[in-house]
Amino acid sequence: MLGLMQSQPLLISSLIAFAERHHGDGEIVSRRVEGDIHRYTYRDLARRSRQLANALDGLGLERGDRVASIAWNGYRHMEMYFGVSGSGRVLHTINPRLHPEQIAWIVNHAEDRVLCFDMTFLPIAQAIHAKCPTVKQWVALCDADQLPQDSGIPGLVSYEEWIGGASDQYAWPEFDENTASSLCYTSGTTGNPKGALYSHRSTVLHAYAAALPDVMCLSARDAVLPVVPMFHVNAWGLPYSAALTGCKVVFPGPALDGKSVYELIEAEGVTFAAGVPTVWQMLLNHVGSVGGKFRTLNRTVIGGSACPPAMITAFQEGYGVTVLHAWGMTEMSPLGTLASLKNKHLDLPEAERMHWLQKQGRAIFGVDMKIVDGEGRELPWDGKTFGDLMVRGPWVLDSYYRGSSPLVKDEHGHGWFPTGDVATIDADGFMQITDRSKDVIKSGGEWISSIDIENIAMAHPAVAMAACIGMPHPKWDERPIVAVALKPGAQLTREELLAFYEGKTAKWQIPDDVVFVDAIPLGATGKMLKTRLREQLADYRLPGL
Ligand code: ADP
Repeated sequence: MLGLMQSQPLLISSLIAFAERHHGDGEIVSRRVEGDIHRYTYRDLARRSRQLANALDGLGLERGDRVASIAWNGYRHMEMYFGVSGSGRVLHTINPRLHPEQIAWIVNHAEDRVLCFDMTFLPIAQAIHAKCPTVKQWVALCDADQLPQDSGIPGLVSYEEWIGGASDQYAWPEFDENTASSLCYTSGTTGNPKGALYSHRSTVLHAYAAALPDVMCLSARDAVLPVVPMFHVNAWGLPYSAALTGCKVVFPGPALDGKSVYELIEAEGVTFAAGVPTVWQMLLNHVGSVGGKFRTLNRTVIGGSACPPAMITAFQEGYGVTVLHAWGMTEMSPLGTLASLKNKHLDLPEAERMHWLQKQGRAIFGVDMKIVDGEGRELPWDGKTFGDLMVRGPWVLDSYYRGSSPLVKDEHGHGWFPTGDVATIDADGFMQITDRSKDVIKSGGEWISSIDIENIAMAHPAVAMAACIGMPHPKWDERPIVAVALKPGAQLTREELLAFYEGKTAKWQIPDDVVFVDAIPLGATGKMLKTRLREQLADYRLPGL
């Protein structure tokens, strides 16, 4: 027997329609590429998204055609989120920090028909346009008078001129909720990038889940700053959750340095911000150096790579800002787990609460997870046994776009996505990443978590960033070393840092050496790029070998 409730498809257009009707005067503030601050409302966003949809119709684009963006976080990019997907096309967000050759590869793989770019990325468009024959319209996300006369890109138009002439009347089409809505490629640190193709259903369900109290706890009373880029897993879904809750949105544009982010937080009354640890390190350094405080910021979600416990403490004790440590992946839309406490943890002393807060956290409803051994047998949730982390759920990838399915079937025939992470899960359901399977250090048959070694170094006041990698060793297979970038003006010797490890971890896990570097190489999404670090240290030999 079927239920007798209305069956209405979950569509992205319903988010923007809702925001316009119920939060029409809700503010969206953007720092623009031009440097100024732009303000408008959900009502304006909805109107211009409809104009964009009409402009796409005008180009004769079919349902399912891909429309690409190479853009910072800003209002025009948000219009693409709703105008492109809402009208049944697929928004393909491209990471501008990839090499132009890789970008051209992705554009061709996705067979993008339109490509819209911020003026910052004009050189990328100039470098790749001749290699991307599927793109029939190039659009610069700028005013008509900002359009360069001699760009060399045939038919280049300004976004404002392109959508400006289009009608703002548009009836969002209804279609199957499993229709593709957006496409995001993994950063491809190993091999060619792979495309995760999200659906309207997966996106709307993820938007609901992200807003839950134990997740990001978003409401119409929040002012949200997504520092995490809209070109990387849809800014963790925040543009969609924002429309669903009607919160104020503050976009940082291209200015991601500590000073600019801090000024925006204070000027716009930001209550909630989201980003990767490297960005928050810059923010903390800046606020510390000017002796600043946060007037309104009360919580921040940090994820994408392990958040050092020292950062959680610095936010909490220094500024009264709660850190929510989150874990996810491009293949998971991206949210999987988030470390928020349960009732029974509340009466614990602060130091003990840290035990849970520093973990990657509990599964969000909609994500099922397990850890397995090499033979696929499920391992206990005791907080100690570690294994390969597997997930499944309605916003987890089934197959890669024009690629294969990585799923592993269990005895019930259910497909699980192998995350490539090694983790423990404790009796309260808190998952903790030990490492990415390719980064874990195997020493004398035991495993050393590079994240643990990095976290200890990061707690030293002189250390700005630390990366731990394994080096080949004839007896132990591998031994850990830690590469360290110091804070400006700070001094630290090898011996001092190694002494700092004493008593904080088992003796055999203490790194064999410290290598001082000017900077730790970062990848396209602001994460440490250990492959590059290994290349840089190709001639390195462990002491005594
Ligand atoms: P890529 O870096 O290949 O683009 P993603 O951006 O999707 O892929 O990154 C997903 C990976 O990032 C996870 O599998 C995990 O290894 C790592 N990661 C994400 N969040 C965390 C976290 N909070 N702690 C540790 N690792 C994390």
